[in-house]
Amino acid sequence: MERSGSEAKVRNVTPGSGAAGNYHRGGRRRLSLPQFTLLRPRTLQEAVGALAKHASYIRVLAGGTDLIPSMRQKLFEPEYVLDIRHLPN
Ligand SMILES: Cc1cc2nc3c(=O)[nH]c(=O)nc-3n(C[C@H](O)[C@H](O)[C@H](O)COP(=O)(O)OP(=O)(O)OC[C@H]3O[C@@H](n4cnc5c(N)ncnc54)[C@H](O)[C@@H]3O)c2cc1C
Repeated sequence: MERSGSEAKVRNVTPGSGAAGNYHRGGRRRLSLPQFTLLRPRTLQEAVGALAKHASYIRVLAGGTDLIPSMRQKLFEPEYVLDIRHLPN
C-alpha cells in the first residue's frame, strides 16, 4: 500500500496473478478483476478532489455488491476505484 498525504492509495496487481487473479473456490473458476488503483480517502474533501481529478476514469465503491461483479465481468474497467467506506458519516 502506498500513502500520499492522508489519502491511502492501493495499487492492484496485474490481472491473473495473486489475490486479484483467477482462482478456484469450491471447484469454480472466478473471473479476475481488471487492474486499477484503489483510492481510500479519509475526508470528504479528498474524495471530492479525487472525483474531480480523475473524472472519467473513476468509479465510486460504496458496498461493492454491484461494482465488483460488474468489474469482474469487465462491464466497467475504471483506472481508479474510490472507496468511500472510510469516510466519516
Ligand atoms: C447478485 C446481486 C444481487 C442484488 N440484489 C439486489 C436486491 O435484492 N435489491 C436491490 O435493491 N439491489 C440489488 N442488487 C443491486 C445492488 O445492490 C445495487 O446496485 C446497489 O446500488 C449496490 O450498492 P453498493 O453500495 O454495493 O454499491 P457499489 O456496488 O459500490 O456501486 C454500485 C454503482 O454505484 C456507483 N456508486 C456507488 N456509490 C456512489 C456514489 N456515492 N456516487 C456515485 N456513484 C456511486 C458505483 O460506482 C457503481 O457504479 C443486486 C446486485 C447483485 C450483483
